Amino acid sequence: MTSGEPGRGVPAGDAADLRLWDVRKTFPGGTAAVENVDLRFPAGELTALLGPSGCGKTTLLRMIAGLESPSFGRIHLGETDITDVPAHKRRFGMVFQNFALFPHLTVAENVAYSLAIEGVAKPKRRARAEALLDLVQLPGYGDRRIGELSGGQRQRVAIARALAQEPQVFLLDEPMSALDAKLREEMQVELRLLQQRLGITTIVVTHDQREAMTMADRIVVMSRGRAEQVGPPQEVYQRPANRFVAGFIGKANFLTGTAEGGAVALPSGPRLTVAPAANFRDGAPVQAACRPEWTHLVPEAGANTLTGRVAFVRDIGQVREIHVETPHGAQVCELPFSNPARPALGDEVHLFLPPELIRVFPAQDRADAA
Ligand code: ATP
Repeated sequence: MTSGEPGRGVPAGDAADLRLWDVRKTFPGGTAAVENVDLRFPAGELTALLGPSGCGKTTLLRMIAGLESPSFGRIHLGETDITDVPAHKRRFGMVFQNFALFPHLTVAENVAYSLAIEGVAKPKRRARAEALLDLVQLPGYGDRRIGELSGGQRQRVAIARALAQEPQVFLLDEPMSALDAKLREEMQVELRLLQQRLGITTIVVTHDQREAMTMADRIVVMSRGRAEQVGPPQEVYQRPANRFVAGFIGKANFLTGTAEGGAVALPSGPRLTVAPAANFRDGAPVQAACRPEWTHLVPEAGANTLTGRVAFVRDIGQVREIHVETPHGAQVCELPFSNPARPALGDEVHLFLPPELIRVFPAQDRADAA
């Protein structure tokens, strides 16, 4: 292993890709929190680790940070194997859910805390803290106490503190979870702009798909300790790799059927044409998925339509959701609010599923299996 800069463990220099090679973590007692994860976090990009509670996001982030040792596998930063480098020598900045600021120190002292530990002289620390507070849009706040700040301001102080050592990699675990919804959205945009300006390789753990889609260059969707799909937000949304991802990112209507000549035959019902043709052997049990906003109301039954009765209608801001009971299960159709259609409860309606927007998956994925 390269020893790097004395006392640092990891060489400073240009941003480098972070690589995980078959990383696994089994806790004493046998919980397999992370299994066979191979990932590349490209230099300068923001990657979101997204998944439901308990899927292993935090454990993976803690292994990257050096706070937890992998049971198996290696972690590389550029050419350097950092698997066994202790956390304090990794030069990774970290922001946690609760920010963990020191209430007895001023804002500037919090920001410059790691520099004080390193023995950097006080005037230099102060100058660095002020520059960082400018960066996170808190100019002149250095002498305040933490208790005098709002939630959003505290979060910015935590970010400034994590950036004080010019980290090579920036790690954030649910950094917005303590903020209210509006501030959360503002901070997501602010954090993204800051990250782009600094060009720092960043990994954000979140269970909030909107947060991941707002901020990330790439999303890693996790389930049950594994990475189910890795890709840019739009790719993951438009082309989910499996049923779990289709249901977790955005909403989806699922229809159970069997593959038939590249189409999906619904039991004693219509045959849904899929374009391009679904690649399954005939007779294989499959699930077809179509998003509510891709499902259209049409005046008559025809190819690729399902007929049912309106069970529920609700207006939510820009869209109107129409819930339809069909012989193949409940389906939801989402119309832009500008669309005048407003069928009444109990009306018979026809839903068209565009062939090019139907995704087909095996009837059961590993991620679904209980
Ligand atoms: P959340 O979104 O709820 O924080 P997460 O995706 O971050 O969840 P982890 O905290 O990584 O999930 O936990 C993954 C699994 O590992 C869970 O089953 C959890 O109970 C288990 N786990 C986490 N830490 C430990 C530990 N120190 N000892 C034993 N099991 C643990």
